[in-house]
Amino acid sequence: MQEQSLFHKIKGQSRALKILLQAIENEHIAHAYLFHGIEGVGKFTTALYFGMALNCLANKEFRPCGVCSSCHKFLHFEHPDLIYLFPTPNLQLTPDGEIKNDEYRKEYEGYLRNKIETPWEDYRFSSNIMIRKESISWLIKRLNITSYEARYRICIIEDADLMNVETANAFLKTLEEPPESTVIILTTNNPSQLLPTIVSRCQPIHFQPVDPNVIAQILIDDFSTSPRTARIVSQIADGSVKYAIHLVQGESSKLRERAFEIMQMALEGNDLAYYRSLQANLQKYNAENLIEIIRYICMFVGDLDLIESATEQVVNIDKKDFLIEARAKIPIQDSAELTDKVLDFVLLMQDYIRKIRGNVNLQLIQQNLYFQLNKLFRL
Ligand SMILES: [Zn+2]
Repeated sequence: MQEQSLFHKIKGQSRALKILLQAIENEHIAHAYLFHGIEGVGKFTTALYFGMALNCLANKEFRPCGVCSSCHKFLHFEHPDLIYLFPTPNLQLTPDGEIKNDEYRKEYEGYLRNKIETPWEDYRFSSNIMIRKESISWLIKRLNITSYEARYRICIIEDADLMNVETANAFLKTLEEPPESTVIILTTNNPSQLLPTIVSRCQPIHFQPVDPNVIAQILIDDFSTSPRTARIVSQIADGSVKYAIHLVQGESSKLRERAFEIMQMALEGNDLAYYRSLQANLQKYNAENLIEIIRYICMFVGDLDLIESATEQVVNIDKKDFLIEARAKIPIQDSAELTDKVLDFVLLMQDYIRKIRGNVNLQLIQQNLYFQLNKLFRL
């Protein structure tokens, strides 16, 4: 048996955890909870651990232990009394909750595997996703079967806001009066998208954005991120652990490629090419895209600070040649001075991100962004 409850793994959510631990301690469990807060702050993991704790076979102070047979089944989504719904394409579920089509089953299992192995990554289904009426019907049917083995039956409905009105209405009665010893946990990044009738039937628990220092520590401890990169990433991740991990994993994406293109044009001082590309991409990037591009640029700029002194810690190692060339162009020799410059740049970009959220003209931001990069290369 391990020495600590798994709740210790959830960082930066002491307020939410306190409420839940108290509920467990007093054996005063609500029949429905609504875990809300921005994406990537631990809502789902906490929901799973809470369900595990209620059924864990270890001594009270170690719950959830993560290793007893009950916890083990929860962690692999194999517990018969865990019902886990998430938004899916139409999987043509049978009334018994089976997926007959092989392709659909593969996607469904792919989602679960991703959730277990790399939960910070988004799993992309092949078509539009929502919490479907068939899934809710199946959930209701399962809850009405009275025999079960666990102390509590746990239903987790992830991204519950992705439920249309008809489905939500079909779910209301169950949510209000679930069968005995059943705990329903809804999670959402967008509580305002939920029907008020759903919200009012749940005990809301808010998950706050995670403190940048906590995020930095997670990156250093669990993802071997260099302290310098961790500091940059934690500043631009908006309190989302998931997003921060996303960034240090340097996942290739179209937006990252666009960020790289901008870096190249700025390094070459190719103003004309940049303004042409702005014109050509006028409608292509919305505010959220632009924020992501800026974050990737921050990661590239952060790497400029590492490429000479700590190459093994560079995030965008696939762009090593470019980084070496770019670093050579920056007329700063002193590495502490460069670190300061990089942080100044990141703070400025943080301000740009705020401005984008405040509906500033995106063209203007993109011009200033290029100007600032240019300045960095030609101090
Ligand atoms: Zn356990």
